[in-house]
Amino acid sequence: MNVSVFPIVTGADNPILRQKTRTIPAVTKKTLKLIEDMKDSMAEAKGVGLAAPQIGSNLRVCLAYINEKIVPLINPVIVHKSKETVIDEEGCLSLPKIWIKVPRAVEITLRYTDEKGKPQERKLQNFDARVVQHEVDHLEGVLIVDYK
Ligand SMILES: [Zn+2]
Repeated sequence: MNVSVFPIVTGADNPILRQKTRTIPAVTKKTLKLIEDMKDSMAEAKGVGLAAPQIGSNLRVCLAYINEKIVPLINPVIVHKSKETVIDEEGCLSLPKIWIKVPRAVEITLRYTDEKGKPQERKLQNFDARVVQHEVDHLEGVLIVDYK
């Protein structure tokens, strides 16, 4: 198997991590290759989520552990957040050795496109919701240090 592990882009002031990503007009072979590269890179880095900018891409794609499975999220948008939030410590592969208490909505409604190009909508709670909120932040150029 061909494994492509990319170095994780780091640094709170890194412009690659601070750009707002571009929505993908259609799922192509290139999109699927990006997702494979992200999966390999995330496995190597032992993360529970990864956003495309973290391996140097400016496309609106991320991976998140949902229900203990790695789910690729293409063009994810959080369409609803519960008013109830919970504060917990988060780390980030792009900010080694930094832990920050971040408030996150307990429940979210997420819309995204799957690898087959099909629109999906699902409700997520607790840890799953937290991971997705962290990754979607990355796609907007937001990092956990912004919650300090
Ligand atoms: Zn992160």
